[in-house]
Amino acid sequence: MTRYFDHNATTPLSPAARSAWLQAEDRHWHNPSSLYREAGLAAHALDAAREELAGIIDTEAARIVFNSGATESNNTLFAGLARCLPPDASVAISAIEHPSVRQAAQAWLGRARVLDIAVDGQGIVQPDDLRAFLQRHKPALVSIMAASNESGVLQPWPDLLAICRGHGARFHCDAAQWFGKLPAAGLGACDYLTGSAHKFGGPKGAGFLMLADEQESFPLLHGGPQETGRRAGTENYPAIAAMLAALRESEAEIPRAMSAQPLLRDAFFARLQSALPGLRLISDTAPRLWNTLLMVMPRHSNLKWLARLSRRGFAISTGSACSSGREGSSVVVQALGADWEELRRVVRVSGGRYATAAGWQALAEAFEETARELDEGGRP
Ligand code: PMP
Repeated sequence: MTRYFDHNATTPLSPAARSAWLQAEDRHWHNPSSLYREAGLAAHALDAAREELAGIIDTEAARIVFNSGATESNNTLFAGLARCLPPDASVAISAIEHPSVRQAAQAWLGRARVLDIAVDGQGIVQPDDLRAFLQRHKPALVSIMAASNESGVLQPWPDLLAICRGHGARFHCDAAQWFGKLPAAGLGACDYLTGSAHKFGGPKGAGFLMLADEQESFPLLHGGPQETGRRAGTENYPAIAAMLAALRESEAEIPRAMSAQPLLRDAFFARLQSALPGLRLISDTAPRLWNTLLMVMPRHSNLKWLARLSRRGFAISTGSACSSGREGSSVVVQALGADWEELRRVVRVSGGRYATAAGWQALAEAFEETARELDEGGRP
């Protein structure tokens, strides 16, 4: 029974990914740019991985650039836009984007050129609001995540994409949290797309950026001609093979997770709510990832909950790992109108696709015991 409930931060390497990685390290460890037969086979395998990913998301392989993960993808995009957009053009991002979108956009383009698109009280970008925003501000690009790493809220990205098309704005989707949890088919319709292997059972340090077309080139790293000149540095084929194996495996498991996991998660929340009156679920009526609960605890700081649960062997989080340790710094929760006092009490629970009823129950018991201990003012 796993006590790991922080899958939105990272996931353990899946068995399929592990064996694909080992096999690739054995067979295709050669440099794909070298000119002998074995290197050619590695280059071939790399092409096959690109084709497979393109098939899963419904796009052309030549749009995909493999890299080190979502942070690199998001930086590459905004650095590229900073070079090619006219100086007066702006970009718009939702109020709940990950720091690797928000801070990258602001760093590469300058704060004045990065506009915020508001979310509603549930954390969703409403299509009508986006339409009105586009008419008024006319940004060159809109960046909206597919699923929130913090609340798990799902954005209606196909509708948002269609609206952007109608207004001549390009659409970037950071789908780091969507991949592996919901079907990836159709994501290739976006203009730009970000993915990261370690969020779905692949290794850390592997991911990809899908560009708008086959010619576009936004190199962030300069050097060799790898990735058709779009990302210098020897390709990490074993990590890419492992990422594809993890994606293949999770795509096959998604239907089962989507039907079983929300029930287990919601039973956990119902139990906790009756044990801890005043417990609040953020984005409670919105469509959400099947594994995520972002909760405001009725009392005691999130770091106290976290430390006590950790002593019992359970891993949860105070919000995204990117803001953990900094109590109450969650942009998502702020965008949803929580006050500063509440921010200190926010915890995130994110289960895996194989979480069991027993695992969720054990977590509920651990929360209940922790509540008793904290209420009695035990060891800090
Ligand atoms: N975007 C989102 C939505 C994420 O959840 C994360 C990881 N927390 C990232 C980007 C950054 O991913 P990586 O670790 O691959 O750089």
